[in-house]
Amino acid sequence: MNPRNILKENNFRVTSHRCDVLNYFINSKNALSHADLENVFKNKIDRVSLYRILHSFSEKHLLCKIIDSKGNITYIIDQQSSKNNTYQPHYKCKSCNDVVELPALPKEYLEKLEKLNIEELNFLAEGTCETCTNNK
Ligand SMILES: [Zn+2]
Repeated sequence: MNPRNILKENNFRVTSHRCDVLNYFINSKNALSHADLENVFKNKIDRVSLYRILHSFSEKHLLCKIIDSKGNITYIIDQQSSKNNTYQPHYKCKSCNDVVELPALPKEYLEKLEKLNIEELNFLAEGTCETCTNNK
């Protein structure tokens, strides 16, 4: 995945900040919070610009915005880059904080959601992943 191409395909102006942030997400296996990114890009990208980049990326579904049961917000790259599937379910391990994509929702479910004009849907399952369960 080339960040420049992804930005162009999604009608973003290609800037070094947008490329850097997107590239960081592409290479990160974990979900990242605003604070995580502030740490990574401190002295390089200011808070507000970072906030705008995250917001625009999640609006265009380059990133999935994940809100857990404690209200923590993190972002993760949308693996399937699925413009026609804006309701990607995720799973978060409460022990190691790992976030993975769950299988896509069934077509009839998505069609129902489309008809209801849903603007926000946070689909996050939380529990203990296999690795953490086995290490207990
Ligand atoms: Zn785990």
